[in-house]
Order: sequence, then C-alpha cells, then structure tokens
Amino acid sequence: MAKHRFQNYVCRPYCMFFKDGQKEEMSCRGAEEVERLVQQGSVDPANMPTLRKEPAVWEKHKDVLGDRVCRTCAFFPGDCDFQGGEEVEGAEPCGGFILLALWYESGLIRMTDLE
Ligand code: SF4
Repeated sequence: MAKHRFQNYVCRPYCMFFKDGQKEEMSCRGAEEVERLVQQGSVDPANMPTLRKEPAVWEKHKDVLGDRVCRTCAFFPGDCDFQGGEEVEGAEPCGGFILLALWYESGLIRMTDLE
C-alpha cells in the first residue's frame, strides 16, 4: 500500500502531530498497527464509516490500548503527552491510537486482533 494513502486515511485526518513531508520512520506504534491491520485485510479503509475524533472514546480505551500498543512505541512514555503518565490537559494520542480506539468502539476490530 502506498505511503501517501496510509497518511491520507490515518495521519492527516486524525493526527495532530502529523506534518506533510514527515519521514516514514517517524511512525508511532499506533499507526504501524493500523497499517498492519489494513494490510492483513482486517479493515478496509476505503469502506470504513466516517469516524469523528472523540476524546471520550480514546479516554475510554486508554489503558487497554496502552498495554497492547503504546508500551512498544518509540514515543512512550517520554515523548507522548497522552501516555506519559502525568496528566497533560488537552493531550491527544497519535492518529493511529485514535483510529484504533474508534475501530474498537465501532466493532470493526477486537482486542485480540492487535499484536
Ligand atoms: S498514543 Fe503515544 S505512546 Fe501510544 S502509540 Fe500513539 S504516540 Fe505512541
């Protein structure tokens, strides 16, 4: 799958940290996991419903997704305000985490789908 497509459906719409021209190796674990699920056919981004960013959803799944995804992320914990351990007002997770939380909440994926 082309990189620009991946950035179009996960980074650009959902990630407040994304900047055009960002190097691919800057990917967070959340984005890598989204890409893995798409590549194995678990979710088809071309046919997924429009999902709006909702803080209540990412807060609801913060701990369980934190255990399954964030603990192996290069940005965890020091460079991620959302999972850094201290409350940072208004801190948002990366776009990959947001999309995983929305997919889980919508029933598109199960926790057992995550590596
Ligand atoms: S929310 Fe933070 S720690 Fe979790 S995958 Fe995203 S950048 Fe990494």
